[in-house]
Amino acid sequence: MTAYAVISDVHANLHALEAVIKDIEGRGIEEIYFSGDIVGYGPRPNECLDIILERCKILIAGNHDWAVIGYTDTEYFNDNALFAVEWTRDHLTDKHMDDIREFKLFKSDPARNALFVHATPKDPDSWDYLFSLTNAAINFRSFNQKFCFIGHSHTPVIIENAGQGKMSAIWTSTIIQETCRYIVNVGSVGQPRDGDPRASYAVVDNSKIEIIRVPYDIQQTQMEMFEAGLPARLIERLSFGQ
Ligand code: ZN
Repeated sequence: MTAYAVISDVHANLHALEAVIKDIEGRGIEEIYFSGDIVGYGPRPNECLDIILERCKILIAGNHDWAVIGYTDTEYFNDNALFAVEWTRDHLTDKHMDDIREFKLFKSDPARNALFVHATPKDPDSWDYLFSLTNAAINFRSFNQKFCFIGHSHTPVIIENAGQGKMSAIWTSTIIQETCRYIVNVGSVGQPRDGDPRASYAVVDNSKIEIIRVPYDIQQTQMEMFEAGLPARLIERLSFGQ
């Protein structure tokens, strides 16, 4: 089986996305999967969407994508996120709005024995955050594949389920065990929140799952956000990955 990459939560950060694609191509990896949230927060939604449409074998919607097209309600969005949703709605072309309307909330690839969903496999449209092993245990019962790739929290983690209640959280990489199943949060390309400002994504090959971090030109994105009039808090947080 050839290796593949899974990316998520690009959030219209073009320079982070370009750096990640370059890193993936540098590894000779051709197949890329996308776990949701192309837009929201960042300044280059149209360009990011073009790249995702062109490069990704499977792509699904995140809560920000659905919020922009009005498919999910934004009551629980904080003020900055809501501002970014409205800004994005004003700046996406009609063609790109139509593209997003086609996105589903989850998809699987039998060839990879993998499911792709933005938030949780249990309730994809509730946009819950998967932060505990107890919650992970419930979610493992909601899909049959060996791998489930998620995003949403912007915090990369590999959750390994060895069966009989034996579960562990792994932060960087792990050898794939024949008898285990995995939920992998691949982290965020465009707005990491685990204290590391570098872009995050995952590479999977025959033997292992690995979280990769890629530096990119943060200031360039911040400058574009400033020029676009996006909220200061959203600009600042990119420096700290929080
Ligand atoms: Zn997100």
